[in-house]
Amino acid sequence: MRSSWGCLNPSVAFSNHERARMELNNKEKARFLKKLSIGTPASGCWVWHGALKSNGYGYVFAGGRDQNAHRVAYQWFVGPIPEGLELDHLCRNRGCVNPSHLEPVTRRENIKRGAMEEARQRRTTERLTCSKGHPWNEQNTYVHAKTGARHCRECHRLREIQRRHSRN
Ligand SMILES: [Zn+2]
Ligand SMILES: [Zn+2]
Repeated sequence: MRSSWGCLNPSVAFSNHERARMELNNKEKARFLKKLSIGTPASGCWVWHGALKSNGYGYVFAGGRDQNAHRVAYQWFVGPIPEGLELDHLCRNRGCVNPSHLEPVTRRENIKRGAMEEARQRRTTERLTCSKGHPWNEQNTYVHAKTGARHCRECHRLREIQRRHSRN
C-alpha cells in the first residue's frame, strides 16, 4: 500500500525490522536512523542529514561499503531493487530516503522523468524572472501597449547604460 507509507514514522519502521531483506546489522540501522530528520516535513520526505554526494544523493556506509542512502532504505523497508532498475524519487527530492517516495524504473524512464522535471522548473523560473533573472514584478515589468509583449525594465536600463557607454 503506497499511501500508508507516506505517514510512516522512521522509528515505527525501525520496530518492523523483521521485514528487512537487506542485511543491515542493528548498529548500521541505528546509524542510518540517526541521520534522518525526526519531524518529517509536510511532503513526507525523510530528509537525509548524513553525507551527501555532489549530485545531491545521500550516502551511508552500510554492508561494508558506501551506498546510496535511498537505495539502502528501499532495500531495507521494501525489498530488493529489481534487476536492472533504478530508483526514481517521485518527490523529486534527491536528499529524501522515504521508501514510499521511491519507485524502481528503467534508466530510460528515469532520464525521461528527470528531463521533464527540468523543463517544468525552467518554466516556473521563466514565469518569475526574465532570462537575466530580474523579477517579473509590477515595478520591473513594462507591457507594450500595442503588442502586449512583456519587457524587463532592468534589462532595458542596463542596455541603455551599455549603449551610452559604447558611444563614448
Ligand atoms: Zn521524498
Ligand atoms: Zn531583465
